[in-house]
Amino acid sequence: METTADILIRKTPASRLKEVDFDQLEFGKYISDHMLVCDYANGKWKEPQIVPFANLSMSPSALALHYGQTVFEGMKAFRMHDGGINIFRMDKHYDRFVRSLQRMCMAVVPKEIFVEGLRQLVELDKDWVPAKPGNALYLRPFVFASEARFGVKVSEEYRFVIFSGPVPSLYTDPIKVKVETHYIRAAKGGTGFAKCGGNYGAAFLPTQQARSEGYDQVLWTDGIEHKYIEESGMMNVMFVINGKLVTAPLSDSILDGVTRDSLLTLAQELGYETEERPIAVAELEAAFKKGMITEAFGAGTAAVVAPIQTIHINGIDYSLPKYNGNNLLFKLKAGLENIRLGISTDTYGWNFML
Ligand SMILES: *Cc1c(COP(=O)(O)O)cnc(C)c1O
Repeated sequence: METTADILIRKTPASRLKEVDFDQLEFGKYISDHMLVCDYANGKWKEPQIVPFANLSMSPSALALHYGQTVFEGMKAFRMHDGGINIFRMDKHYDRFVRSLQRMCMAVVPKEIFVEGLRQLVELDKDWVPAKPGNALYLRPFVFASEARFGVKVSEEYRFVIFSGPVPSLYTDPIKVKVETHYIRAAKGGTGFAKCGGNYGAAFLPTQQARSEGYDQVLWTDGIEHKYIEESGMMNVMFVINGKLVTAPLSDSILDGVTRDSLLTLAQELGYETEERPIAVAELEAAFKKGMITEAFGAGTAAVVAPIQTIHINGIDYSLPKYNGNNLLFKLKAGLENIRLGISTDTYGWNFML
């Protein structure tokens, strides 16, 4: 780091680390001792502070609560096999954070506050980074509109917060998904590429309906014709069709997933052909009928890969062949894990070493 943001640190007098059962981690249950807080007002970001994790105090008229100016990131720090710690692809997460903030008309967090804030926060709470391979310290940077004023307007005040918590590797049993043909997650020209809270809020009802019909998740289709596959739940979605790794191309209705990008890169390194192109629902149907589709999975930071067992299309449940260790999705997952653990070479400079 050339520019080091000055960060005031106030340590907790009583660590909660001993309350954590690292053998029984649950996603989202434990929060580490400290958080970073940084306020924006009068056109400037103030000095960031690292303080003991605690509730925030804000006005009920804080604009974020009413008009939804709120943006987040989800990323992970890993304990490597030699004991070192890295934060995975911090630059790419930062670039996406900036794009999300810009789309929501919010103040952009300077890179040195983001990078140095994460580095110092993870350094301070390094004993919270789990040692078991696959487990990680989940990092949640977010910004919300904090100005207290209830007229509809762009906020002039923001708060940037980062907190973290140890999480298990989420292995999910193969899931059942339903091609959604009524609701949409994202529209052309909308906010689908931004990691903003509203995208999640709007996805809950369709997902609950899919659950009540016996599916785990929704397979989102495009907002114009419901003709092309976009994402699976809150993950990018990838298929192996005819031996090639295929995923939807980036657009303003697709979230530019860091996992998606990493898996595409690793698949090419393994000698697989990859395609980023529109995938029609009709193409999937045809591929099932000809037995040409061999894998389908969600890709995202939380689970890395979430294998799909069944896809519901036009009244029919199509099944994928049973998965085994030879499947590409598991090779990709292992390839990614080996880089993060420092077992294989970090050719692409993905690990930000603490
Ligand atoms: C966060 C997210 C993803 C996955 O992105 P990663 O960077 O791989 O975690 C995919 N789709 C949506 C809608 C998301 O919000």
